[in-house]
Amino acid sequence: MALVPFLQGKTVAVMGLGKSGTSAARVLAESGARVLAWDDNPAAQATGRDNGLTVTDLATADLSDLTLMVWSPGIPHTHPRVHPVAEKVRRLGVKMVCDIDLLARANPEAQVIGITGTNGKSTTTTLTAHIINESGRPTAAGGNLGTPALDLPALDRTGTYVLELSSYQLELLDRTAFDAAVLLNITPDHLARHGGLEGYVAAKASLFERMRKDATAIVGVDDSHGQDICARLRQTGHVKVVPISAVRPVAGGIFAVDGALVDDTDGQARQIAALRTLPHLPGRHNWQNACAAYGAARAVGIDIEAIGEGLASYPGLAHRQELIARIGGIAYVNDSKATNADAVEKALVCYDDIYWILGGQAKEGGIVSLDPLFGRIRKAFLIGDATEEFARTLDGKVAFERCVTLATALARAHAAAQADAIADAVVLLSPACASWDQFTSFEHRGDVFRQLVTALPGARRCA
Ligand code: ADP
Repeated sequence: MALVPFLQGKTVAVMGLGKSGTSAARVLAESGARVLAWDDNPAAQATGRDNGLTVTDLATADLSDLTLMVWSPGIPHTHPRVHPVAEKVRRLGVKMVCDIDLLARANPEAQVIGITGTNGKSTTTTLTAHIINESGRPTAAGGNLGTPALDLPALDRTGTYVLELSSYQLELLDRTAFDAAVLLNITPDHLARHGGLEGYVAAKASLFERMRKDATAIVGVDDSHGQDICARLRQTGHVKVVPISAVRPVAGGIFAVDGALVDDTDGQARQIAALRTLPHLPGRHNWQNACAAYGAARAVGIDIEAIGEGLASYPGLAHRQELIARIGGIAYVNDSKATNADAVEKALVCYDDIYWILGGQAKEGGIVSLDPLFGRIRKAFLIGDATEEFARTLDGKVAFERCVTLATALARAHAAAQADAIADAVVLLSPACASWDQFTSFEHRGDVFRQLVTALPGARRCA
């Protein structure tokens, strides 16, 4: 099937032959485009050739009849250095887009929800898609998460795309138009790639320049950048603006202050759902995600009752405070995605009695910033390269053991937690470290933890 028939017979270049680039090149070729594919990495070039692609060095190729450039968002093109191919394509006046733009162009009747933010994108994307899907509407979720955009199914006007968008992808949109767009939060990130904080904030805010008529902008106002963007959008008045907050009531918005989600978009301040009891959305950061998902689902016409049911049945995402099992009164939680202290903090504030498994390859600053939360730790179990650094930070404040491996750490934490038998205590893998000293990825580390936990005697699976 020609997914992008409007490019049939046209010359299209594809830069970057990772997952999304390879998928884009294949779909373009199947649609009858003349595809010139390239990747600066020789191994990716070889894989491209093995996949039957015409691999051509775009820096030297004749691009005079080029119609479009499909650029892989992971490849820097303006900062920290201008990429020579990007420069050449811009001089030719050819548009550079990412695969998401092609998806939106190929399915112009489907509803499109775009979700961005520094943190919480994947949770909010999967939660929103789950709610809409459970309401009975065809839904496809992807983008920065999981399936490459052009591998998602085609949807007509009865369907909804829920797309996770990184700042890199936002810079590569041209014709995408959102029915609802969500900005969760902004904290400094990826600054080198955007030439500084201003560039990063501008990339995030550009989401709202791509809205359909009567679309809804859902803006997290718990940081100053979101507040500024929200105020600007309200001044321009071209879209409906819904502020969201997980820390204070916001007039005309959606908020969760004491664990209840409140909808004040029509000035009625209606209480919609109790969030504290949702097993797979723990913590205040997830209240922000729940408010955003609620706002997005409302914006595309899902009724309140169906959203309540979707929030309650959301199964959670692996590796993000994933509740794996309970043994006795103790919960076993996999938070392997928490590779830095900021992310770990989000988990530590959720529990009072923690048997904390941490370590791996430490990030700058280590776990020093978590000191105010050390009172919640019953005992720490250290693994990997960071052991001695973390031992120094914990020394005299928190009891700890050097465990070397995850298997030993879990065995020791399990034994200690079961012996103490404190109701609602938690054995928590929240490593504050990269995984590469002992694992291939944070997913690998979390998968090993899950296997180890489910093999413990008496483990009751919670998934
Ligand atoms: P992303 O896709 O933006 O990386 P995820 O949904 O995968 O975000 O969550 C990754 C981690 O970020 C979580 O484990 C949690 O520690 C933290 N997090 C999630 N949601 C939020 C939020 N709304 N605000 C701040 N931190 C969050």
